[in-house]
Amino acid sequence: MIFIKERFPARVNFIFLVIFLLASCSVQVDEEQPAATLGENITTVYETTATEIITTAELIVDVTEAETQEIITSTEEITTEVATTVPVTTTLEITTAAVTEPPETEPVTEPPPAAVSKNIPVFMYHTSSENNPGGLAELYVKPSEFEKQIKYIIDNGYTLCTLDDWYNLNNIDKPVFITFDDGYKENYTEIFPVLQKYNAKITIFLTIDNMAAENFTAEMIREMSDSGLVKFESHTISHPDLPSVSSNDERLIRELGDSKKQIEELTGKPVIALAYPGGGYNAKVIERARVYYKFGLTVIHGRHNTGAHSDFEIRRLRMNRSTSINAFINMLGG
Ligand SMILES: [Zn+2]
Repeated sequence: MIFIKERFPARVNFIFLVIFLLASCSVQVDEEQPAATLGENITTVYETTATEIITTAELIVDVTEAETQEIITSTEEITTEVATTVPVTTTLEITTAAVTEPPETEPVTEPPPAAVSKNIPVFMYHTSSENNPGGLAELYVKPSEFEKQIKYIIDNGYTLCTLDDWYNLNNIDKPVFITFDDGYKENYTEIFPVLQKYNAKITIFLTIDNMAAENFTAEMIREMSDSGLVKFESHTISHPDLPSVSSNDERLIRELGDSKKQIEELTGKPVIALAYPGGGYNAKVIERARVYYKFGLTVIHGRHNTGAHSDFEIRRLRMNRSTSINAFINMLGG
């Protein structure tokens, strides 16, 4: 509309200019004619000029109307375009946001509404040896002791679970978790036979670099995973103290994202949980862990309460070589 207001007076001014020029020109040309004829001619010129002016004015009105219609149509088109552009822009923003996140594997889905709270025993082991192993002896639970613990669990009506069962815990009778950190060949040579004997399920949090260091081979891992008795989850690539490297995004992506990807490639099964190496985590680590995992496991001692504790701060019960069967039963919850 502003466009018309600006433009119309310009055309009107132009018309006035034309009238003035035509009128003065006609009068000059016919100056030498007799007065009567001159008067008639002037009248004719004015009449002709008047007709021209009316025609021009009509044309201008027509043009202006047509232009007005064009402007209205254009405005409507622009409005329509703006309306259709808004959702497209939103979609692009969402896409950009998704791309910004480290996109190593399929996105982790939101958990269902919180279940009724339960105190869950989640045991943490490392490795196993019957004879005095030397080194960090407490990490090596005796296979004979481990077998007693498994037998107690089964004889007393507990159900061995993996983290794939987490959202279904309310429907599981006396759930209990057994987890092993790091990844040692003894998990295969000492522990796996006990699992096969009792059809018992455990979880191994694998540190990728430990495979080479401990001769824990891909073949051992695949055999255990394929048996359905061992679920492999992540314990990072190199077992760093995650809070110390949490300002290094590249490092976090490698430790959290790449480890998940490599274990998934190794086992062909989704990796949904991370055990923080050495139990170290902070807000930034949890924020990044949420990109790849549904669960984060700590070394905070105690049974995990599903109502009070976060799924990224799952508590565990540490098992040592020196832990007695009675201590184990107490931790289990009687
Ligand atoms: Zn560890």
